[in-house]
Amino acid sequence: MSAGTAMGEPVTILVVEDEDSFVEALTVGLKREGFRVQVARDGAAALDLFDAVAPDLVLLDVMLPRVSGIDVCREIRSRSKVPIIMVTAKGSEIDTVVGLEVGADDYVTKPYRLRELVARMRAVLRRAPSESEPLSAQTGMVLEVGDVRLDPDRHEVVIRGREVNLPLKEFELLALLLEHAGRVLTRDTLIDRIWGLDYVGDTKTLDVHIKRLRSKVEDDPSSPTRIVTIRGLGYKYDLERRRAMSSGAD
Ligand code: CA
Repeated sequence: MSAGTAMGEPVTILVVEDEDSFVEALTVGLKREGFRVQVARDGAAALDLFDAVAPDLVLLDVMLPRVSGIDVCREIRSRSKVPIIMVTAKGSEIDTVVGLEVGADDYVTKPYRLRELVARMRAVLRRAPSESEPLSAQTGMVLEVGDVRLDPDRHEVVIRGREVNLPLKEFELLALLLEHAGRVLTRDTLIDRIWGLDYVGDTKTLDVHIKRLRSKVEDDPSSPTRIVTIRGLGYKYDLERRRAMSSGAD
């Protein structure tokens, strides 16, 4: 399959990476996959090059000289919805990066296999904002549980009276949880429904998204009462809390 767009233009990838071995392997590997590759070796160069080449996707190393990958991500996100995949050196770094909510679309950990990376890149490109459809477009039903309200048609989430911006996968995950509120959804079901065949990464992707969602939905993300973990099974959007609250209010 070619990496070309519907217009037949090659897809341009901005690779931001300072380690020679990765730069070389990525340049050769991605070109072989049909991508056009532009390389920036530090954060400042990345921002300049971003404006110059208007890439279709940014592959962004976290540890960079001058401007860090995290600041580069924030800066790009402030002016563009271009898909960004962040590359971290250690798995534990992912949690830190995700915790900062810099606005990346996906994360990979070094060392990674090129095949896996390309699969993730294609997945992110496929669900890029211009092409993506809301998950519950077929029903269009507004989901409301307690003080959380999700409108699939308008792609709107209101939590405790405040509108919250959720990236597509988090939005879909929340929609699925609300739709099945009070019932356990297994990890396999969630992964299958939200990512389907696009789920090529390690099993952390789901946990990472749950964590990000909790940071926006929960009063105290460190002890969640809405999106609860059912050990060994999966997750549940808990209704107990709502009952307790509404019976207290009535
Ligand atoms: Ca680096």
